[in-house]
Amino acid sequence: MIVLEQVSKSYRSKDGLISAVAPTSLEVAEGEIFGIIGQSGAGKSTILRMMNLLEAPTTGSVIVNGRDLTKCSPQELRVARRSIGMIFQHFYLLQNRTAADNIAFPLEISGVPKKNREQRVKQCLEIVGLEDKASAYPAQLSGGQKQRVAIARALATEPKVLLCDEPTSALDPQTTGVILEFIRDINKRFGVTIVLVSHDMEVVKHICGRIAVMEHGSIVETLDLSGTGQKP
Ligand code: ADP
Ligand code: ADP
Repeated sequence: MIVLEQVSKSYRSKDGLISAVAPTSLEVAEGEIFGIIGQSGAGKSTILRMMNLLEAPTTGSVIVNGRDLTKCSPQELRVARRSIGMIFQHFYLLQNRTAADNIAFPLEISGVPKKNREQRVKQCLEIVGLEDKASAYPAQLSGGQKQRVAIARALATEPKVLLCDEPTSALDPQTTGVILEFIRDINKRFGVTIVLVSHDMEVVKHICGRIAVMEHGSIVETLDLSGTGQKP
């Protein structure tokens, strides 16, 4: 489903090249909930953002759903990204749009007709249990509700993969549990492959089957938690 082959990322700075991620290979299978854990600055977010080419790798290839994203034209990349949803710590909702219009946004961009958009937005609001908040603006929603809108927006194009970058780090423990259950539910119900980045082992242990531990830009260990940490 997701294959990283010797992927690395360096940034140019006044002191020369800084390595954020050393050459790394990694495979995430279809239907997995895969965690990436490590301290701040370990390179987790950079690895995740290379999985949809939000960050272009310095070396290596990124193969998602059988396509090498590093070889895609801009148009091909736009199409490939419809099958890769993403959510973030700070939600990144458009403040001047309602919940429904935020969810409709990726559908507008991909040219889905209005009637189909409305139907799909309704389905997505149902998936995250926010039918009654369709007309609410982000400022009128709690943190957990905002993240649920962001999840619904990420699901609008029926992705096969959902990338989650610290999705619960701005939320209290109880809301964290609710959001993790939604993510698990989306994995079970639709078979969406999940990659979850977190600095919090409790979060990762809660839902992930396998996890990669990152330190200083490298994966130092891969652990299989299925049957131990993972709850049924
Ligand atoms: P994590 O998600 O584990 O906190 P990141 O992937 O965000 O780590 O960052 C890894 C390293 O790359 C850090 O040292 C960070 O400062 C550096 N880095 C990330 N993005 C940039 C950038 N745009 N320019 C320069 N350095 C960056
Ligand atoms: P269930 O068996 O729970 O009813 P379905 O597979 O029938 O689930 O799908 C229910 C709805 O979810 C359908 O409208 C379908 O379009 C939508 N759906 C399918 N795949 C995804 C996906 N990857 N993300 C979000 N929604 C999806």
